[in-house]
Amino acid sequence: MANKIRVTVWNEYRHEKSEESIRAIYPKGIHGCVKDFLDQHDDLEVRIAALDDPDQGLPDDVLNNTDVLMWWGHMAHGAVDDALVQRIKKRVYDDGMGFVAMHSAHMSKPFREIVGTSGKLLWSDDQHEIMWNVLPSHPITAGIPEHVDLGIEEMYGEPFMIPQPDELLFISWFEHGYVFRSGCTYHRGRGKVFYFQPGHEACRSFYNEYVQKILYNGVKWAAPNDFGSPMHNCDYRKNLV
Ligand code: ZN
Repeated sequence: MANKIRVTVWNEYRHEKSEESIRAIYPKGIHGCVKDFLDQHDDLEVRIAALDDPDQGLPDDVLNNTDVLMWWGHMAHGAVDDALVQRIKKRVYDDGMGFVAMHSAHMSKPFREIVGTSGKLLWSDDQHEIMWNVLPSHPITAGIPEHVDLGIEEMYGEPFMIPQPDELLFISWFEHGYVFRSGCTYHRGRGKVFYFQPGHEACRSFYNEYVQKILYNGVKWAAPNDFGSPMHNCDYRKNLV
């Protein structure tokens, strides 16, 4: 198929190496698991990258040939190079690269920089989560039932310090009464951003068929538009003559 969407699944890949119990759930790493289920779709071309790879996994030739960057980070947000964060932001704002922030990427440097937020939230212990589909007309929720029972997940709760989402796709209920905006979209510059909460390293959400479909739909939605002109510097004197 022509014009496959080029996806890079980036993972800090630390829990899986340092904790046997996490490696047992994701033996190929979370990024390997995400690649495996996305590889079932022949309209995607998927590669993986990790924090400890050369250039933190995203040298220019990788980043500049990525249509959608998926990001999972948790314990090593601070280790991500600030110059890399600015390169990612520029790719989103100027080139329209999609950014899919998974789970604890709400506190990652790229998500906070691209969206403009502290990313802070209310946190508690793992609880039963039911995720409700509140925008069934959206491309990302296509094929997703009115609710998805995720079993045990890490509790993320409101208030969640994000700008008002452009679209709110999912709201989650947790058994001790908390609620959370678990699926949100943003438009930033020429790019699109999808934040999606399920995916704690000690839980099995990435094996859930609906989580997998939502992330596939999210990649398709976040892929860049076919822009008619290169990004310019908005110099009105040039644009009008
Ligand atoms: Zn977590």
